[in-house]
Amino acid sequence: MTDTTASTDVWDLIVIGGGTAGLSASIFAAQRSSKVLLLDTADVLGGTLWVANGQLSAAGTRLQKERGIEDSPQAHLDDIMRLSRGTVNEDLVRLAVWNAADTFDWLMDQGFDVDPACPVDGVGHEPYSRARYYWGQQGGASVRKVLVAAVEQAVSEGRLEVRLQHRASRLLTDDAGNVIGVEATDADGAAHRFHATSTVLACGGYTANPEMYAELNGRPLYTNLPYRHSQGDGYTLGQSVGGTLRGGENFFCNFGFLLDSDQPKPGMVGRLNTYPQKRLPWEIYVNVHGHRFVREDMESVDARENALLEQPDQRYWVIFDQSILEQAPPFIAGFDSAAIAALFADNRPYFYKADTLEELADRAGIATEGLLSAIRGYNFGVASGNDFFGRKHLPAPIEIGPFYAIRAQGAAVSSAVGLSVDKSLRVVRDDDQPIRGLWAAGEIIGASQTMGRAVCGGMMATPALTFGRLLGQRLIPLGEGQ
Ligand SMILES: Cc1cc2nc3c(=O)[nH]c(=O)nc-3n(C[C@H](O)[C@H](O)[C@H](O)COP(=O)(O)OP(=O)(O)OC[C@H]3O[C@@H](n4cnc5c(N)ncnc54)[C@H](O)[C@@H]3O)c2cc1C
Repeated sequence: MTDTTASTDVWDLIVIGGGTAGLSASIFAAQRSSKVLLLDTADVLGGTLWVANGQLSAAGTRLQKERGIEDSPQAHLDDIMRLSRGTVNEDLVRLAVWNAADTFDWLMDQGFDVDPACPVDGVGHEPYSRARYYWGQQGGASVRKVLVAAVEQAVSEGRLEVRLQHRASRLLTDDAGNVIGVEATDADGAAHRFHATSTVLACGGYTANPEMYAELNGRPLYTNLPYRHSQGDGYTLGQSVGGTLRGGENFFCNFGFLLDSDQPKPGMVGRLNTYPQKRLPWEIYVNVHGHRFVREDMESVDARENALLEQPDQRYWVIFDQSILEQAPPFIAGFDSAAIAALFADNRPYFYKADTLEELADRAGIATEGLLSAIRGYNFGVASGNDFFGRKHLPAPIEIGPFYAIRAQGAAVSSAVGLSVDKSLRVVRDDDQPIRGLWAAGEIIGASQTMGRAVCGGMMATPALTFGRLLGQRLIPLGEGQ
């Protein structure tokens, strides 16, 4: 590392991380001050918006009013409490949903290309009671485009300085432990010190860091979907000045990825179509013991996800036979039956084929007796119309080989655990006392806080945008620097 350089300037605000929350914080702060600094370790702005779907939820928006949809933040909160079974941080959810419409309306004013089908009540996740779910025509890129354009405008007006390839490596504190700035390392390894009245940690989650993911979530990282700079740096920075973590009890995962390897951070072969609303299942799902654990045609995605959460390693195997492979509509998005058959012929990891069920169980690593019993039970249901799990769609037994199994893995793309903040988004210590000079917004405060032990549509990206906006507006008193 080369010598440390220290700027003599004192910034009104330093934002660490130019993703969803940090871009928003920088834009709104730069409307009030010309001394705002945005640091990002990457060589581009945008953060997780490079990979995310960017689905947002907000109640009471102008778009809803234009469409005659009656909605309110209270109704949004009630839905989130219902969907999460009360596991969210209600103070933070209140702050998010009571300010979400202003955030969304602002995005629209900036030219956000909302999909004409929106708002809807839900897609892919448990639906809301009202249509308050939106996304751009290019997913996360639509949000990124709006934010980056506003940041570039602020830079061109001299109101914001952006330093890319600057990785925040240490928070600077005074003798009393208050945060007074940050040290960041540039691409050449040179360290730079920046001082500020206020510092916002907006450097995202830890879902691209296998070690931290395993430590905080208690299970391996089974996906490479998250943004590569989601390394959890902000957690280490926050803890280094007394911050504390919370939310591990709310770990939650999606219903299942088809992994393409057994390496750490595996990619995906494809996505199973497990939505009975789109395709009724012909297959059964079993856990490692060979036991079915959910009615496969269960309409509720939340119920399916909760059932998976209870299974060993959040893992299940999709089981079917040759006749189902040939007759059923394809169940991997983008693959026809021939392409699915080819995955088995290629000996892909986690795709198993065998002439007998015993052999299949052995190859796939499933308990043989359990699997045989599950299939006997399922075939009884098909013959009698009375499935033990109450499944209604019983098109064909699983009885004539070759037999097939595909291992699907539940994994989380968002960080459950977060840095503790109070309802003003100040980073707090163990005793709930704020660390002066330090705030946090975005995924770094934890999915556990705004979604709880569930997936509540849009309740990561929208709070990130909103909390960023609120901090940008609140941390700089009106009139300063104007
Ligand atoms: C595949 C996927 C799909 C998703 N879809 C949705 C969805 O549809 N709806 C929804 O609500 N949520 C969704 N999410 C979650 C949501 O997008 C994120 O939680 C949110 O965008 C995170 O915003 P953020 O600002 O906290 O972090 P990020 O957007 O990740 O920004 C953090 C920034 O900090 C930078 N950084 C990291 N470390 C440092 C450091 N030491 N110094 C300086 N800079 C640093 C990074 O480079 C990055 O630019 C999805 C997530 C994934 C992975």
